[in-house]
Amino acid sequence: MLKFIGGLIRPYRGTLAIILLAMLVETVMSLASPWPLKIILDSVVGSHKVTPWMRHLMGSGIESGSKQHFALVASLAFVVIAILGAVASYIDNYYTESVGQYVAHDLRMRMYHHLQRLSLGYYNTHQTGTILSTITSDIQTIQGFASGSTLNILVDLLTIVCMLGLMFWLNWDFTLIAVAVTPFLLLFVSRFKKAVKKATHEVRKEQSEIVAVVQQGLESMQVVKAFGQEKTEEALLQEVSHATVSAALKARSVKALLSPVVTITVAVCTAIVLWRGAALILKGAMTIGELTVYLAYLNKFFKPVKDLATTTNAIAQAAVGAERVRAILDTDTDIEEKSDGLEPKTLAGDIEFKNAAFGYDPANPILTDVSFNIKQGQFVGIVGPTGSGKSTVVSLIPRFYDLQAGSIKIDGQSVADYKLKPLRDQIGYVLQETVLFRGTIAENIAFGRPGATREEIIEAAKLANADEFISRMPKGYDTMVGERGSTLSGGQRQRIGIARVMVRNSPILLLDEPTAALDSESEKLVIEALERLMKGRTVITIAHRLSTIRDADQIIVISGGVVAENGSHDELIARNGIYAGLHRTQFETGPAKVEA
Ligand code: ATP
Ligand code: MG
Repeated sequence: MLKFIGGLIRPYRGTLAIILLAMLVETVMSLASPWPLKIILDSVVGSHKVTPWMRHLMGSGIESGSKQHFALVASLAFVVIAILGAVASYIDNYYTESVGQYVAHDLRMRMYHHLQRLSLGYYNTHQTGTILSTITSDIQTIQGFASGSTLNILVDLLTIVCMLGLMFWLNWDFTLIAVAVTPFLLLFVSRFKKAVKKATHEVRKEQSEIVAVVQQGLESMQVVKAFGQEKTEEALLQEVSHATVSAALKARSVKALLSPVVTITVAVCTAIVLWRGAALILKGAMTIGELTVYLAYLNKFFKPVKDLATTTNAIAQAAVGAERVRAILDTDTDIEEKSDGLEPKTLAGDIEFKNAAFGYDPANPILTDVSFNIKQGQFVGIVGPTGSGKSTVVSLIPRFYDLQAGSIKIDGQSVADYKLKPLRDQIGYVLQETVLFRGTIAENIAFGRPGATREEIIEAAKLANADEFISRMPKGYDTMVGERGSTLSGGQRQRIGIARVMVRNSPILLLDEPTAALDSESEKLVIEALERLMKGRTVITIAHRLSTIRDADQIIVISGGVVAENGSHDELIARNGIYAGLHRTQFETGPAKVEA
């Protein structure tokens, strides 16, 4: 854990040196602060002899023996000590906060960078809300720790050692009695640390559950309302929220123990010092000033110990945060990119599947042996029963997932030999539902190819049959769309999705039932746009309506994890197999949608 945090703060070594220096000054000033009082009590008010080094320290004016002068210098020293300490404390605070903030920034960026590279498989098995809460709250706790605690520990330890040294120097056997309980206190603190960490872990887990539940609920608000499940959603939150409360209370009940224990210990030690000190002063073995220093130190002495414990708390939280962050950072990007991967400028678009086998969970294969061959510029339809793996086949081409066996080649090269981005740049994808982002329509179209000019965007929209409805909007291409495109109709979203791929101008086009969710009027517009889009490209389309692929060069039937049939419409009808069966059902049941 410390190594991880150490790695994070390494770039800020320079600033850390400044902070450390400031902290040292603070420590020294804190050690020095009771001494002016001691001098006044012992050497001004009392009759204690002034030691030669102190005489030297006070300057030559002391020779006159004026006690008033002595008091003045001590008082001034008091102010100077306070000022130096305050300035050092300001510098320390400012720079520690800045280190903490930048460490958090770096970590956030590193994590998001990593998240962008994790495969879709990761997102299938991890809750968005949990990830969200890690990148916000957990990083914040780490920031809090980096801002405050790392160096404080060092300074606290140093302060404790120096104070002990000075106390021993003043009166060693007395010191032994005064701090006899410290080892027990430290033991207690370290026990305490374990309990706190465990409790904190629970709290963070429950808190991220809250984010997950709320995030999911808000995202599916329409379904929730449609099915009248508001109460169920609230009950879900109620449950995790309650769990958070009880976890937090449990954590607090552990944490809250610390302060009273330390306070009582301090009181006991102070009592011993007062009692023994009084006796020693009466015997003349100790001065009043020394006792004052003792009392001041004892108070100061337990502050670092207490701080260590609070820090312990911060450490526990940061450790939990760091564990959660690392769980994400340490997840391997299972879609490995070859360092010497190919970077194709343009691909022709020959696609070959050879004995491809794949399952989202390798133990549960979806595709067992898929082989087919698609030539550049061909129009290919994929059909098959629902759940047979059509969408899966298509998602393997941009390498969203890696095969368990066999190969997929584009232009004779395995997809794994290409660098990911250049490969995906060559592929256009239109899905059943187009996901739009919060932003303007123009921005959403340009998502297909960042840097597309306004003219290119409009041209693409025209080809996609979208220009007409966009122009009718009050702000045209600068109209904002809601999150996930909620302010547009399904058909409009699809046409923007097509414009987005149009502007991408990629040689390979993958269509996953892009018209499945549309009514026939809107479908007509979309199909028209698709026909323009398909021209001159290799197209693989998953079709629910068989009429749309009647003219395909090749129709591939996926069933039972393999290519069950493969050929042109006429060949497959003649074969009288699965395709012919699907065809019959569709035409007998009329225009109603049939899952194909
Ligand atoms: P449909 O016609 O209904 O769209 P499909 O042929 O496209 O079906 P796929 O989406 O490829 O079917 O799914 C094939 C199988 O893989 C299904 O049994 C499904 O449960 C499973 N599956 C799909 N996506 C995932 C995923 N992300 N994680 C795990 N399993 C998945
Ligand atoms: Mg599908």
